[in-house]
Amino acid sequence: MTNQVTGRAAGRLADRVCVITGAASGIGRATAERFLSEGARVVAADLDGERLATLEGVEGVVPVIGDVSVAEDARRMIDTAVERYGRLDVLVANAGVIPLLDITEAEPADFDAVMAVDGRGMFLTCKYAIEAMLVSGGGAIVCTSSISGVAGQARQAVYGPAKFVATGLTKHLAVEWAERGIRVNAVAPGTIETERVAAAREEPGGPEYLSEVLGAHPMARFGTPEEVAAAILFLASDEASFVTGAILPVDGGYLAR
Ligand code: NAD
Repeated sequence: MTNQVTGRAAGRLADRVCVITGAASGIGRATAERFLSEGARVVAADLDGERLATLEGVEGVVPVIGDVSVAEDARRMIDTAVERYGRLDVLVANAGVIPLLDITEAEPADFDAVMAVDGRGMFLTCKYAIEAMLVSGGGAIVCTSSISGVAGQARQAVYGPAKFVATGLTKHLAVEWAERGIRVNAVAPGTIETERVAAAREEPGGPEYLSEVLGAHPMARFGTPEEVAAAILFLASDEASFVTGAILPVDGGYLAR
């Protein structure tokens, strides 16, 4: 979108430099598309190079293949924004893996693998983003947590604690960096219709589990990636200029119960 008078990008994120992790699919992808429509420049980071390639050549997008749990990769995602555009305004720390396991099914290696992405990956991308934002004079971070990062749920023995990392980081970083002009917030999505949910329908016990979870959403439906992207946009934009440390449910009323 361009302002016809000034020729500059228009929109709620006009010319903002944004890194989005997990941008190749689901919530991250919808967020990248929404941010682009609001005038942002998007560094789209993901482990999945094949999917990321579908964003290749899209105006305003710089794709970066990398693993958020590897420090050098996480740093490269942030450095790409700074090298390309001279600063970083927004990080959406969204990459994650979503296993449905109870504690008897989960192996120690499952815990380590999920914590590496949803926990360590969030820590690393926030760390390098804050270091860059301190140089450029402030910014906004939005972490993708979950209802499982706020409340207890069945079959979340591995995923749930990892999403509590997102919630915890959000609150601690918000308090620590508020005076330096960095806002840190999180969205806590309920169940969102992504490929992960489609795959869960095919797993043993998946349909029963999902129908139970659906029953706990007062709106009696699952959300869409676009509905989460809209909330992320709000928290990333100046419209949320006095909002920091917030965990915003995007959950059809799940956490209101
Ligand atoms: P998704 O699988 O569609 O997207 C996740 C993306 O992250 C994928 O493109 C994947 O390649 C990428 N990714 C995975 N590991 C990575 C790594 N190590 N480094 C870089 N990229 C990596 O899933 P989604 O549903 O869009 O999930 C996005 C976020 O939303 C996750 O943090 C998830 O925990 C959270 N969330 C999802 C739901 C839901 O119901 N779908 C609900 C609450 C929270």
